[in-house]
Amino acid sequence: MPITPTYKCVLLDIEGTTTPISFVHDRLFSYVKNNLLQEQIQLLREQAMKDVNNNLSDVILVPEVQQQGKKTNEEEIKKAIIQNIQWQMKINRKIGAFKSFQGFMWESGYESGELKGEIFDDVLDALKKWKESGIKIYIYSSGSISAQKSLFKNSDKGDLTEYIDGYFDTSIGSKIEKSSYVNIAKEIQLEPRDILFLSDNVKEIISAKSVCYQAAIIERKNNMPLSDDDRKNNIIFTDFLQIFSYLFL
Ligand SMILES: [Mg+2]
Repeated sequence: MPITPTYKCVLLDIEGTTTPISFVHDRLFSYVKNNLLQEQIQLLREQAMKDVNNNLSDVILVPEVQQQGKKTNEEEIKKAIIQNIQWQMKINRKIGAFKSFQGFMWESGYESGELKGEIFDDVLDALKKWKESGIKIYIYSSGSISAQKSLFKNSDKGDLTEYIDGYFDTSIGSKIEKSSYVNIAKEIQLEPRDILFLSDNVKEIISAKSVCYQAAIIERKNNMPLSDDDRKNNIIFTDFLQIFSYLFL
């Protein structure tokens, strides 16, 4: 006997939930690393010079191709760019040159078909089941909305954007702030209790629950390990299809 869902909408995290953490961290990043474009490199180079002039500490400079009459080895430039990008990722920079570099690389990778958004096998079946039951599907991720759309449009399971009713990124608020979940509920015009939020991040789950969302932790291979308390206090699924036989109260 199928269980009637008590929620009208699902809100899905991406990294560690619909998609392996390694995809964002390794695959997207190595794509950026291996497909360096001159225009984007120049922006990074100029930004690094500005950072030095503004006395920012630990700036990683990107060498010029021709420097003091001597040609810089391409490998050296690549190495500097990788370090520069890693540094910017580490300090979670929102600066234009970095975001534009990252966005451009991913976009062109998806367009050429060389890059496919990795989605766990159970996710597509779950999206279909939710759609059949009239449940709305939203995404909430710290990646930009355009990056989210690209990932689902160019996924290894095909174009999944037809299943998705809307996207939220951190412009609605941080994923660990309660107010973000209040804002999302307002935005999609549902009561928080009618929304089921799924994420691998316990802090996000706690924030969503504190404003009366239904919520469950998704535990995937290579995610951050959960503590005993996390296990005691939360519903945990390792596969989206388990959600359909769980009775939410
Ligand atoms: Mg996540």
